[in-house]
Amino acid sequence: MRICSLASGSRGNSLFIESENARILVDAGLSALQIKNRLQSIDIDPCTIDAIILTHSHRDHVSGTDVFSHQFQVPIYGHPDTLDSLTYMFKRNQKIIPWTGEFIIEDMIITPFRVSHDAFPTVGYRISAREKTMAVCTDLGVVTEEVEQNLKKAHFLVIESNHDPDMLMNGPYPWELKERIASRVGHLSNHDTGAFLKKILNGRMNKILLAHLSEENNLAELAKNTVIDYLGSQHELMIDIIEQRKVSVMHEF
Ligand SMILES: [Zn+2]
Ligand SMILES: [Zn+2]
Repeated sequence: MRICSLASGSRGNSLFIESENARILVDAGLSALQIKNRLQSIDIDPCTIDAIILTHSHRDHVSGTDVFSHQFQVPIYGHPDTLDSLTYMFKRNQKIIPWTGEFIIEDMIITPFRVSHDAFPTVGYRISAREKTMAVCTDLGVVTEEVEQNLKKAHFLVIESNHDPDMLMNGPYPWELKERIASRVGHLSNHDTGAFLKKILNGRMNKILLAHLSEENNLAELAKNTVIDYLGSQHELMIDIIEQRKVSVMHEF
């Protein structure tokens, strides 16, 4: 499998995933033009994308979905309630495919799982193709048993490490927003993510990308170092950050 983050953070998210027979995007929260440009920068023809699979209806995950899907004839998959809540934006006769559980795109088996966040529903995805498994899980306030069960099966993990609690509390956001982010339906802090990864880390996991970092309330090095403090420095090479403004390297596993 190959994985590349086109963007990650509260201003837009889109993750490219490729197996032998399929190419998909998890979320399309940049403009369609940006998604196209970023795909072309990694030599991927946007016309070859087989599906967009949505995690939830927040703008930073869906904003380019309608136009990109229309322009490149890409079907949109999501939880029925997520797709219902987005009908205002789907104006162009796209192929809209509500899933009701595990579904298949070419050689990918895609398993959605629920996460605790303030768009209802919000999901993460576990994706397997030919013995390889990855999981993507951003936008969650707490780690539930369901999240743990899904993530610990992965060889490759994309997981939120949204904020540093001190930076959040001392930062510029209004109190209500700080409370929302730190709540059980908000976002995971660096410490939440570090402690959780320590709990589930096992021999099969070979890469972890820290995602959805806040540009106001976090720093790449701080997130990485906090997580490494939990995991131990021998795991340093496993950890990478994905960013808002940069397309990541193409990861292969
Ligand atoms: Zn988000
Ligand atoms: Zn969200």
